[in-house]
Amino acid sequence: MATLPIIVAPDLRLAKKAKPVAKVDDSVRRLMDDMLETMYLAPGIGLAAPQVGALKRVIVVDCAKGDEDPAPYKIANPEILWRSDELMTNSEGCLSLPEHYADVSRPKEIRLRYLDEQNEIRELHAKGLLATCIQHEIDHLEGVLFVDHISALKRNIILRKLAKAKRQKAPAPV
Ligand SMILES: [Zn+2]
Repeated sequence: MATLPIIVAPDLRLAKKAKPVAKVDDSVRRLMDDMLETMYLAPGIGLAAPQVGALKRVIVVDCAKGDEDPAPYKIANPEILWRSDELMTNSEGCLSLPEHYADVSRPKEIRLRYLDEQNEIRELHAKGLLATCIQHEIDHLEGVLFVDHISALKRNIILRKLAKAKRQKAPAPV
């Protein structure tokens, strides 16, 4: 396994739509494992392939709390079959928008169909934080960030701060 560099916003690569995988084969399994390792190290509770520069419909999540056993999900080609009418608001963050958080409302429960790491079709009923996290990661596959769910004013403040932080980190021109 290897850790992968995470793309930080603003970056046009985060706005692209990811393509379905034809099959979960060894290369997709390796991507899933590398993404999980990258996510745990960061640390984060979810990561989508476009965040590490792979335009594939692959996400990993683990919403287990600190004192619980790890509960990783390796998900390819996720498809939301059902969303609850009831919404839940969470303060969301993102490894591609480090140190920024905002309240986002999403359906509280979802039913998901996906391919697991053995290329088997699976269904999952997710609620609460797991449902939020999966929806956040699926958004990445559509080129959507959590700041796209909040007001343009708040979004621009966050993106401007991130752009400034990037400029300050860039090496000085020689
Ligand atoms: Zn994210």
